[in-house]
Amino acid sequence: MTQTCALVTGAARGIGLATTDLFLEKGWRVAMVDRDRPALLEAAATRDNVLAIARDVSNPQEVAAMAREALGWAGRIDALVNNAGVAEFGPIEHCDFETWRRVMATNLDGVFLCSQACTPALKETKGAIVNIASISGLRASTLRVAYGTSKAAVIQLTKQYAAELGEHGIRVNCVAPGPVRTKLAMAVHTPEIIQAYHEAIPLNRYGSERELAEVIVFLAGPQASYVTGQVLAADGGFDSTGVGLP
Ligand code: NAD
Repeated sequence: MTQTCALVTGAARGIGLATTDLFLEKGWRVAMVDRDRPALLEAAATRDNVLAIARDVSNPQEVAAMAREALGWAGRIDALVNNAGVAEFGPIEHCDFETWRRVMATNLDGVFLCSQACTPALKETKGAIVNIASISGLRASTLRVAYGTSKAAVIQLTKQYAAELGEHGIRVNCVAPGPVRTKLAMAVHTPEIIQAYHEAIPLNRYGSERELAEVIVFLAGPQASYVTGQVLAADGGFDSTGVGLP
């Protein structure tokens, strides 16, 4: 039997790279997808059992090629982790259409395209999809009109896919991370936002990439075999409090 394979998007750094490493520790192979070719190649060069696929998840032709390349290499896809994402924070009046489309293209179109492209392979393995949303998709707040809306849509997309693909044995779940000190977050979290998160989160701290990876890999694997259509907030308790987003 060939080795179990995960396809992780946005795998060059941050939560996607930590997820790649945890899959590898558990004996999976990983098709690492990212549009940042230099960062991706650098990350892949120091890891065994990976294939680097430099593709943009918002482009339908590139996503089709991505699925072909992963399948050609591994012969199977057991889990798809839709993790690639971009963040833009700003007032609604400053969110021009180009910004709106850029956020939607990666955060929403990318999840739709990758899920669709990998569905035939996932039917063969009765595999799993894990989408990465955000607490910004669970709660409305200022400054996140495009980001929050894209992540709320990912939560609904998760439920649509779970409802439709369940009969094929495919499970589809979603993780809603709280703040993690990645490049994406640190580009938009001001000192005020950082302080406010620490106060609003019951555990009083940011999460780590590894803590998110543990939840993602759990949902992707056999321990979660009866879990589908769910949103798991890995957020230090933030969503349970009802406090508004900073
Ligand atoms: P990150 O910026 O460290 O990593 C994101 C990766 O995605 C990068 O390597 C980037 O090149 C890649 N990427 C972006 N657009 C792409 C595209 N169109 N095609 C292919 N690759 C693309 O960010 P991160 O914090 O690790 O984010 C991972 C996911 O977690 C994102 O979906 C993000 O929205 C979500 N998230 C992060 C936080 C946080 O605080 N860090 C909180 C909630 C949700």
